[in-house]
Amino acid sequence: MVESISHSLKRFLPAQQKKVYPPVGRCIYCGKIDDLTLEHVIPFGLGGKIEFPDASCRECAKITSNFEHTCLRTMYGPLRLLYGMPSRRKKNRPNKLPLKIKKTVSEEWSYTEIEQEKYPFLILFPYFTEPKLLMKDPAPPCRGAVADRFWIRGASPSFVFKQLLEQLVTELGVYSIMPEAKAHVVEFCQMLAKIGYSFAVGELGYGNFEPFLLPGILKAELSDCDSFIGSKVSDEAPSESLHELSIVETDKSNYVLVRIRLLSKLGTPTYFVVVGRFGIV
Ligand SMILES: [Zn+2]
Repeated sequence: MVESISHSLKRFLPAQQKKVYPPVGRCIYCGKIDDLTLEHVIPFGLGGKIEFPDASCRECAKITSNFEHTCLRTMYGPLRLLYGMPSRRKKNRPNKLPLKIKKTVSEEWSYTEIEQEKYPFLILFPYFTEPKLLMKDPAPPCRGAVADRFWIRGASPSFVFKQLLEQLVTELGVYSIMPEAKAHVVEFCQMLAKIGYSFAVGELGYGNFEPFLLPGILKAELSDCDSFIGSKVSDEAPSESLHELSIVETDKSNYVLVRIRLLSKLGTPTYFVVVGRFGIV
């Protein structure tokens, strides 16, 4: 059985403090200067309130919102409901989601449809190794984006998870239900790269460091992303804030290193992203 977040998310998760960076006046991803839009450093659908006006062109915004949307839809469903994430694809948005059930002890697993509001979601975070660039001895094996370990918790925007499961079993008159979730690790790495990079630009200024991850963000070129993106092997204690985001000092070279912990209040894994380096621009 999956460990669950014992409170309903609505009562449990704090809001992120709003922060607005000065407008950049050009797309921080491709450099274009027209048709600029507002960028959220952490997706709005995850409760992100760090804003970057005029910092992304429409084309790049389409790319970043695509991978963010994939992550949010599949890995963080209840948060989307919790924060009322606006959907540009309202028409395609299902009101009901498929839930795996076993009707009797001897029957095979099958699927039934459950309303989103009552859906037992799983929140998923992949574990990685430390970014190779930061390792003292970066010898293989390094798993990087090929995650085979996950932090998984059951969650619902408005129910206590365990009670929700019991209630659903009774309501549906079934023997058992099995919550499921899909992991999209490539899109998740793109999202981490985007959060890390846009945060570093906000904090340090556009053009003040050589960015490493633009091909990864814009073209999903992430074959060597284990060099740049990694996580802590052991979890840290839950924090009081919704998310944690900071520039971290590193003695390795002159790397710009960003520490990212999404939903840190839930005790989630900590990620490190080497977004670029100082000195050579
Ligand atoms: Zn752009």
